[in-house]
Amino acid sequence: MLDIPLEELGAAGHDQWLTALASGAAEVRIQQHADMPSRLSAFLVDQLAQAQTLLSALGHDPERVQLLEVDDAQARDALPLLTPLTDQPLPFNEPEKRARLNIVLARLAELGEPSGQRHAMPSGAAYGGIQVDSDACTLCHACVSNCPTPALSSGGNTPSLNFREADCVQCGLCEQACPEDAITLTPGFLASAERETRHVCHEEAPFECIGCGKPFATASTVANIKAKLANHPYFAGDAMLRLEMCEDCRVKDVWKTMIRDPDAQLRI
Ligand code: SF4
Ligand code: SF4
Repeated sequence: MLDIPLEELGAAGHDQWLTALASGAAEVRIQQHADMPSRLSAFLVDQLAQAQTLLSALGHDPERVQLLEVDDAQARDALPLLTPLTDQPLPFNEPEKRARLNIVLARLAELGEPSGQRHAMPSGAAYGGIQVDSDACTLCHACVSNCPTPALSSGGNTPSLNFREADCVQCGLCEQACPEDAITLTPGFLASAERETRHVCHEEAPFECIGCGKPFATASTVANIKAKLANHPYFAGDAMLRLEMCEDCRVKDVWKTMIRDPDAQLRI
């Protein structure tokens, strides 16, 4: 039995409790005290719900984490009813908090039987995925620029949008940033190895410049811009073709037009 006094009970949450279990503790009991502010009680109840849902989803007894009533010394001092999940402590050299938590969850998954299902978590929990409407996505990557974690990324040579659920904290910034309303959040913990893998949400062939052949955008981005500027006077007639050119060819085309016809209005 290890007694671990904390200056502030809220200094440890479900990630630290699960870390203890993944490192060889049989149970974690949190002893409440009489003068706890209601905000702290609410935090502990929320964290307990998250810890117990994660344990159930990964095939473990949720009672491995318990919140003890004030002054319940008997429950506090009782010997554990459950045996430890492992006798191998986790080697920790990962400085980033979310990455550490993912290591713990992966270890608990190895030691249990993940359900393969998505499990509802308390409101506001930082677990979940996203759905991307491929018909609407233009691969503008505004969502990638706004994502505060590595959850979303753009592709390499092929224009694409990639996602890894383990990194997603469900902040909703991608959903708000998407100009096409193509993103929907799917909250909940996915108890499956799929959560750890990066997959392609949407990809397209690159659009090649009609002047030099260099890939510079996606077909849907070009089509989208052409549709938006279809009635703009600067892009009337042949000038519309400049939207199918890369930035270099577009400038060259403007200069060629001006040389041919010095009175031509600069349209770019
Ligand atoms: S999901 Fe929306 S923001 Fe992200 S690349 Fe597609 S269109 Fe752009
Ligand atoms: S919800 Fe937040 S963390 Fe998740 S993909 Fe969107 S921006 Fe990234």
